[in-house]
Amino acid sequence: MPEKLADLIAEVALANRILAQEGVLDAFGHVSVRHPSDPGRYLLSRARSPAVIEPGDILEFTLDSAPVKPPKVHLYAERVIHGCIYQARSDVMAVCHHHAPAVMPFCIAGKPIVPVFHVGAAMGAEVPFWDQHDEFGDTNLLVVKPEEGRSLARALGGHSAVLMNRHGATVVGGSLKEMVSRAIFMCQNAEYQLRTLALGAPAPLHPGETRLAGSISVMPNVLSRTWEYWCTRLAAAGAMPPQGGARTTVSRRSAPSRASRTLSRKQRKSGRR
Ligand SMILES: [Zn+2]
Repeated sequence: MPEKLADLIAEVALANRILAQEGVLDAFGHVSVRHPSDPGRYLLSRARSPAVIEPGDILEFTLDSAPVKPPKVHLYAERVIHGCIYQARSDVMAVCHHHAPAVMPFCIAGKPIVPVFHVGAAMGAEVPFWDQHDEFGDTNLLVVKPEEGRSLARALGGHSAVLMNRHGATVVGGSLKEMVSRAIFMCQNAEYQLRTLALGAPAPLHPGETRLAGSISVMPNVLSRTWEYWCTRLAAAGAMPPQGGARTTVSRRSAPSRASRTLSRKQRKSGRR
């Protein structure tokens, strides 16, 4: 994880754009990372399409998904997904919720995505399935209430991803780069699994293969290699975030109360967007 908060904020913006470029995110979906010095907070963009997110869009939230800074901008309605998972999983440092076309057939059919090729092992042997209707009846399918977020986090359990009935998926990671890699390779795996059906029933990796191949996918040299590759593709598309670092929209301190006071002073000086 980057040492400087500004570097991590820049990486969150970059992660949004990479996942958009690679077909995981579209106009919707979002990426967050746990605050590096305050595990009781997380960083997430204001409500904006991922392909255009800049470091200055990144805001700080408590794990109750309340913005630390009173916002004058729109926020993602489904941000409770992030807060509830960070509350439930101390090992999770990054979360992405998406509605990628690659996973939607499985979400609609209620069929499991299983690892069918070596890099697909990044998502783990099993991706649980969550049906919002089971517990909450008729909704607009958005995960907006804390109890809905907590239910989703329970379904995720200790896994790396969860499918959401007729909605999408949520992927987690021990770092931002790990989560991005997992989200992209899970989508590739879903595409391969579906295409293979034209030739015959796809056989998943053996459990030992999934464990061994999955451990490779989180090695630092592998993550830096894939990150460089995806950054290069993003740059070739002319879609890199603007340079110049992050605006001071989040706290650098670990003590929440002190951080809130510091942020308020900065807000008064710099104004809001
Ligand atoms: Zn959604």
